[in-house]
Formats: sequence, C-alpha cells, structure tokens
Amino acid sequence: MPPDAPAANGSTPSAAHELEHLDVLVIGAGLSGIGAGWYLQDRCPWASYAIFEARDAIGGTWDLFRYPGIRSDSDMFTLGYSFRPWDGEKTIADGESILRYIEDTARVFGIDRKIRFHHKVVAAEWSSDDARWLVTAERTDTGERFQLTAGFLFSCTGYYRYDHGYEPEFPGRDRFQGTIVHPQHWPEDLDYAGKRIVVIGSGATAVTLVPSLAETAAHVTMLQRSPTYVVSMPERNPLAELLRRTLPERAGSTAIRWMLALGTQASYFASQRWPRFMRKVLRKGVERQLPPGYDVDTHFNPSYDPWDQRLCAVPDGDLFKAIRDGRASVVTDHIDTFTETGIRLRSGEELEADVIVTATGLELLFLGGIELTVDGEPVDVANRLAYKGMMLEGVPNAALAIGYTNASWTLKCDLTCDYVTRLLNHLRATGLRQATPRNHDPSISPEPLLGLQSGYITRAADRFPKQGTRHPWRVYQSYLADYRSLKRSPVVDEALELSNPAPVAADRHRAPAPASAGR
Ligand SMILES: Cc1cc2nc3c(=O)[nH]c(=O)nc-3n(C[C@H](O)[C@H](O)[C@H](O)COP(=O)(O)OP(=O)(O)OC[C@H]3O[C@@H](n4cnc5c(N)ncnc54)[C@H](O)[C@@H]3O)c2cc1C
Repeated sequence: MPPDAPAANGSTPSAAHELEHLDVLVIGAGLSGIGAGWYLQDRCPWASYAIFEARDAIGGTWDLFRYPGIRSDSDMFTLGYSFRPWDGEKTIADGESILRYIEDTARVFGIDRKIRFHHKVVAAEWSSDDARWLVTAERTDTGERFQLTAGFLFSCTGYYRYDHGYEPEFPGRDRFQGTIVHPQHWPEDLDYAGKRIVVIGSGATAVTLVPSLAETAAHVTMLQRSPTYVVSMPERNPLAELLRRTLPERAGSTAIRWMLALGTQASYFASQRWPRFMRKVLRKGVERQLPPGYDVDTHFNPSYDPWDQRLCAVPDGDLFKAIRDGRASVVTDHIDTFTETGIRLRSGEELEADVIVTATGLELLFLGGIELTVDGEPVDVANRLAYKGMMLEGVPNAALAIGYTNASWTLKCDLTCDYVTRLLNHLRATGLRQATPRNHDPSISPEPLLGLQSGYITRAADRFPKQGTRHPWRVYQSYLADYRSLKRSPVVDEALELSNPAPVAADRHRAPAPASAGR
C-alpha cells in the first residue's frame, strides 16, 4: 500500500504511518501459514495481507526435515486442508509428497505471491492509540532490519527452533571416531549403506528412521532410555477408500475427515478413561507383530499410560518387520559414555557404530521467538493464559496456529483460521479495531498448555503460555469441543473484550462489511 493510502482497518494515516501497513501479517509459510492465507483470501477478501517467512522455502517442517523415511505419523485426510482435501493414495504420506501438497496449494490459490521469503519477524509492539502493531523484521539474507505496521498478527511459526534440535550432553561425545547426525540437519550426502547405525531415541523420528535406514545399513540399533507406545497403522485405510469410491467428492472427503478425526479422538478418550484396558490392547498389538519370546515388556511397554505422551504410529508395522527380519533391534538402557567406536551402556554392554543418529527431539520455541510488547509493557508469555488455545490473555489482535498433540495439527489450525477470519469480519462490521482476551474469573488457575508429559514438552513448559481450568481458557485437545467453541459459537464472549472504535473520518473509507460478518 502506498504510504498515504487510507489504512484498510480504518485508521487515519499519520506521520507515524509512513511505513507499509497490512491488515493482517501472517508469520510463517508452513502448513499453517498457507492455510491461513487461503482463509484470509476466501473469508476476508477486503484484507491486505502478506506472509513473512524467515527461510527461503515454503513448507516449514516438511521442507526442513530431510531424513530417510520422513513421513506423516497422522493420517493425511486430517493433516491435509479441509478446503483442498488430500487426494493421495496413502493415508500416511512421505515428506516429499506432503511438501509438494503444501507448495501446490500455495500456487493453486495464488498464496505463493503473498509470501516474502527471508523475512524474519523479531519483535512486535502493540499500540492501542494507533490500534496496530509496529513490527520489526529482519532480512535473513542481508541482516537488514526494517519496520511495518499490521492490524492483526497471525503467528503460524510452528512450535520449535529451526536452527537446532535438542542435543543432550553425551559424555565422551568428542571421542567417537564415526559420524554423528541429528535428524533435523540430515547431510544429503551421508552414505550409510553397509554401516552399523545406532539411533538414540524412541520417538516418532526414531521409529521412522530405523526401518528406513535398515533397508541398506548393515544393522540398526534403536537405543532408548525407556519405551514408547508404538501402534501399527495401515498405510492405506480401506474404509476411507470405500467412502471415496462411493460418495460424491466433497461429501466423501468431509465424511473421511470426520470419521478419522472422531476415531482418533475416541482412542484418546478411551485411553484416558480406561488406561489399563488400552495399555493391554496396545501391548497385544505389539506382541502380535514380534517374534515369539521377544521381550515386549522391556522394549515396548512404557511405564506411563497411553497418551500421557504422544503415541508413535508406524505404517503397516514396518518397524516390527525390520526387527523380525533381524535388520534392526531395540536396546533399552542408559548411555554411560560414547567411545572411539560406539557407545558403552550402563549395563556394561558396548554398541559398535559407524554412525550415531541423535534422534533426541526438538527444542521448543514459542511464537517463533518474537518479542511482544503491549502499550510499552513487554509480554512474558509464560504468565499469560491462552484464550481458546489460540490467543493470549491481554494481547490484542494476535492469534496463534497451534495444532493438536493427539490428532492432526491441521484440524485445530483450520478451526483457528475460521475463527480468526470471523473475528476480523466482526471487527470490521462493528467498526471496532481491537479484540483483547481478558480473564475476569479469579478462580481460573493456570496449567501447562500442552497436556503431554513428553520430555521436550516438560523441558519448555516454563517458556510457554498456560491454559486455564475452564472454558474459554481450557485447551481441550478435542476436535469436537473446538469445533463448537471456534466455529459454532458466537465470535465474542465475556472473555473477549472489543474496543477502540475507528475514528469517524476513517469510516468513509470502509467498504460494506460482508453478509457473513458478525455473530
Ligand atoms: C518430523 C516431524 C513430523 C511431524 N509429523 C506430524 C504428523 O504426522 N502429523 C501432525 O499433525 N503433525 C506432525 N508434526 C508437527 C508439524 O510440525 C505440524 O504438522 C505442521 O507441519 C506444523 O506446521 P506449521 O506451519 O504450524 O509450522 P512449521 O511447519 O514449523 O512452519 C513454521 C514456519 O514459520 C517460519 N517461522 C518461524 N518463526 C518465524 C519468524 N519469527 N519469522 C518468520 N518466519 C518464521 C519457519 O521458518 C517455518 O517455515 C511433525 C513435526 C515434525 C518435526
């Protein structure tokens, strides 16, 4: 927008506004940011927006991670967008297909033209006087810093650091003469054929890597401190295929999405309600896949209940097949020290290795590390409650795309986008410029935002906002509950304060609000 043009959120341009102004600034061009772009174009065609992306590529996670075998571990019918249903054959897809799907979506809807690569947002200061954010961004290619203003921030920055993963201190690490690799930075030219590989970890990345590496490696050992629940999931879902064949396209994809979303949710709630029963079911499933006499309890029977940490899905039991074939094995023990030739364990056993893969996880990062200030006060996000799991207490005009930990990420982000665009239209229709979540209920107490006990989540709990004990501050991890709360309820409730009317003179510039705006 030229500097002297009227701002689309109704503010009067002034000397302070000689900067570029956008109605909405989306941060991040991953799965969520591209989804946000679609919703803005479809539901708020009046809004000027751009997507700032720190890297030089679309896709976020699905572009960054390049380790062998990378794939989704939730089904693609719910990880894909509702507005552009996944039409691939497989329920669980490889990373390259997911990246292509995100890139194609951006291209098909012209969202790619809104992306500004190498644009990293570093700070945002809200001014209630101006009813806008003053955003500081950095060009990651040149280091140059610049500013612009935005009426609304939509953070689609994911939940972890991009520059490095989590690397615990391993004693003797420097002594090891072979190659050490973290899956977040997989070397393109790493030749592991015929090599002995130890993969440290037991999470989604480790269980994905092991069968894939085992295809050509001499042997792969998965070294874990403690076991994880691993579930075999069919790579193709026969029920989804039947629905696809028999129903019209739109109805078919909606039915599949609901079927899978509710199915996952049912298994989650069954695990919470009947943990002992579910534990037996999961153990039986693993036992059936492993050779007779295999020590299931040591290697695949965790001490915690199902869904206290994320379950790991393996397509068509590929991990178990690699173990059955003798190409891979699991060792449950603690590392004493790395040695010149491998790893010595506390039990005294030595694992010889040419390559060690530290699948030790992610380092979580909230809001892409952006420093927030509201009317001159720095925001300590760790002391804020999350409103409906997608806005922050006391922080106006900012939303976050944070997906589920117990189901596909996109299910929640789709609902968040729907809500944000309803809110933007509502503000426009009422001539108000500021929407701020505020907690007026002293009986609400804070709890960790992401209700899992996984190490990577508990390590970061003190840097993340909190959830409250009741609606609308509660994070339900439930598609049904969020569907009601974000899509079917009125946009505004008692915890969302709308304020800051647009100056009267600026009203002349506002186009009529769309019919769908408001409650
Ligand atoms: C290996 C792996 C496998 C996964 N598999 C699944 C799965 O099967 N199912 C599932 O539901 N979830 C899965 N997840 C979670 C996954 O991250 C989400 O599914 C989804 O890809 C997240 O998309 P996003 O766009 O929200 O975030 P990301 O993919 O993380 O993208 C965020 C983007 O924001 C950019 N960015 C960050 N900070 C800034 C900033 N300050 N300024 C500008 N740009 C910024 C980043 O560069 C990046 O491009 C997986 C995660 C990992 C790591």
